[in-house]
Amino acid sequence: MQKGRAILGGSFNPPHIGHLRLAVEVFEVLGGMVDGVDLMPCARPPHKDIAHLLPFNLRADMVDAAVADMPFLRCNRQEVLRDGASYTWSTLRDCRKAAPDTTFYFVLGSPDFTLLPSWHRGNELPSLCHFVIVPRHKDTVKDFVETARSFWPNAKERPSSVPDARCMSLTGGGLAYFLSLPRLDVSASYLRNLWLAGRSLKYFVPESALRLLRESARIVDASWRV
Ligand code: ATP
Repeated sequence: MQKGRAILGGSFNPPHIGHLRLAVEVFEVLGGMVDGVDLMPCARPPHKDIAHLLPFNLRADMVDAAVADMPFLRCNRQEVLRDGASYTWSTLRDCRKAAPDTTFYFVLGSPDFTLLPSWHRGNELPSLCHFVIVPRHKDTVKDFVETARSFWPNAKERPSSVPDARCMSLTGGGLAYFLSLPRLDVSASYLRNLWLAGRSLKYFVPESALRLLRESARIVDASWRV
C-alpha cells in the first residue's frame, strides 16, 4: 500500500525547535500512515505581514540545513514555483495532481486551525487532505472538537487509528486528528524579538540553520527590524 505524506506548511521565519519537534512527533505518532514529513516554506503568505519575511531561499536553506540528518524530513520548495499568494488550497491541489495516489496530512498548530474559515477555500480543504492538529498555548483538544463542529456542522467523532488522538470526520471526506503532544511554547515572532534585542537563539534554532542566519545578519536585521 502506498503511504501518505504529511505537510507542515509555515513561514519558517526562522525555523525553530517548535516546528522541528512537531515534524518528528507527527511522523512517529502517525507511524506507518506516512513515509515522511515535508516542511514547506510559504513563498507569499496570504495571512501574514510579509514585511518581516526573510527571502524565501534563506528560509528554505535554513529548513534544509535543519533537517539534513533526518531522512524522513525534507524541505519542499514547491510554493516558490507558483505565482501569486501561496494558498494552501492551490498547494494541496498541486500535490494531489503530482501524486494522485498519495494521501496528504496537513499539519497545523491550533491557532492556525481556528483561522481556517478565513483561508482561501478553507472549509473545502478536507476534500483534499486530512488534518493533523496539535495544541499550542492554552488550547485543548476539547477546544478543537468544538471548533471543528462550528466549521463543519456535520463533523462527527469516530474511532481514531492514531493512538492517543481524537478523530473527527469532516465535510468533504477528510479526517481531523487532534494530537496531544508536549507543548513547546516558542514562536518565530518571539525569536525575531530575541534577535533584535541582541540575544542568543542558541538551542531554539539548530546550529546549522543559525549559522546561515548569522551569515546573512545584515539582511536579517533589515527584514526583522521593519
Ligand atoms: P510566527 O511567530 O512568525 O507567527 P510561528 O512560530 O507560528 O511563526 P509558522 O512558520 O507560522 O511559525 O508555523 C508553521 C506551523 O507550525 C503553524 O501551523 C504553527 O501553528 C505551527 N507551529 C509553530 N510553532 C509551533 C510550536 N511551538 N508548537 C506547535 N506548533 C507550532
